[in-house]
Amino acid sequence: MPDPGPLSYRGGMTQTVNPVTLPSDETSTDPQWYIDLEDKHAAHNYGPLPVVLAQGENATVTDVAGKTYVDALAGYSALNFGHGNERLIQVAQEQLASMTLTSRAFYSDQLGPYARDLTTLIGKDMMLPMNTGAEAVETAIKLARKWGAEVKGVENGKQEIIVMEGNFHGRTSTIVSFSTDEEARAGYGPYTAGFTIVEYGNAQAIRDAITENTVAVLLEPIQGEGGVVIPPEGFLAEVREITREQNILMMADEIQSGLGRTGTTLACHYEGVDADVYTLGKALGGGIVPVSAVLADEDVMKVFTKGTHGSTFGGNPLANAVAHEVVKMLASGEFQNAAQERGKQLAEGLEALVGEGLVAVRVRGLWAGLDIDTSLMTGREACEKLMAEGVLAKDTHGSTIRLAPPLTATEADIEEILRALRAVLGVDA
Ligand SMILES: *Cc1c(COP(=O)(O)O)cnc(C)c1O
Repeated sequence: MPDPGPLSYRGGMTQTVNPVTLPSDETSTDPQWYIDLEDKHAAHNYGPLPVVLAQGENATVTDVAGKTYVDALAGYSALNFGHGNERLIQVAQEQLASMTLTSRAFYSDQLGPYARDLTTLIGKDMMLPMNTGAEAVETAIKLARKWGAEVKGVENGKQEIIVMEGNFHGRTSTIVSFSTDEEARAGYGPYTAGFTIVEYGNAQAIRDAITENTVAVLLEPIQGEGGVVIPPEGFLAEVREITREQNILMMADEIQSGLGRTGTTLACHYEGVDADVYTLGKALGGGIVPVSAVLADEDVMKVFTKGTHGSTFGGNPLANAVAHEVVKMLASGEFQNAAQERGKQLAEGLEALVGEGLVAVRVRGLWAGLDIDTSLMTGREACEKLMAEGVLAKDTHGSTIRLAPPLTATEADIEEILRALRAVLGVDA
């Protein structure tokens, strides 16, 4: 081989790139064909129900064989406004045609107006745009630690954040470090230090866990992945009081509970509580693009200065345009009201099933956790049976089913979910 010459010349060398022949773009109407491909080539980090979706319209989804279902999961609440929401699709299409990415090396005509309206809706001075929920939580953790070091005066490296048992805040290595779900955590060490785990809903446990190095309490106002676990009345207000008194940030992860799901704009609003820091995600992207944000007042957010945090896609024009429209939609209150109204219908139907195959139900807005009587079937089995009845839902923690249909679901959609559930549990209407 001839001497390739000095390194700086190598970029000019001719490289032969062999074209890759991709397998045909063949399609099929046989669900199993897609299931086999996905199982062979996509990592098995989920255990999907055996349904292959191809199309969605509001709360109705259609599989590759043409069978329709009511979507009672709504992308874990990322689809609060339904599939193919006309307003959101139109805004996205217009933005696609004009500009999709600037990077924050430059200003964007879509960020300022969106940031103004989002902060107005939530009642904070400033927002920081990220993409996924886990990134927003990571950002909030960094924010709390830096605030602790620079404003509160905790020695850097000693900052502690109090978190809750049964939490779900995402999947990064730092976040799973303080998960209490063995499945989410096992094998991923070494774990990030600096977190103290206390019992959810127990304000005294928070008080007892506070040290001079505590910088924040991070919690979900309602634990979503935990199974729609609603803390005792007054808990959030008490956390607010303790954190204010102790000069600690109260950080509410509203990624799943926020943006209308519970019948209010934020789940914290139900108790009239205003946290110091909010994380938003999921529905913020309208089911179209991953969009998340951290919100805080200026006296906290100011610790992020040039070069201290960032994201290539965070605050991109397409995301901003879609999220801005989501904010405008929520400003009217109509979706929160719809969540209350449809939620009431759902709650009434579910309560009638307690003792009839359901051990307990927890409902807030259009969001429900149902504990299945495990002597009848597991949560997974119930979801498979619901699927056969034309309703898609997801089990969590063995025996719990979470229902979170789009806030735009119709009265008939909710009735269909209840009918299917009665059929699965063998209860006569
Ligand atoms: C889904 C969720 C996250 C993580 O969001 P991703 O977009 O999946 O990273 C964080 N916190 C809560 C409360 C969630 O429900």
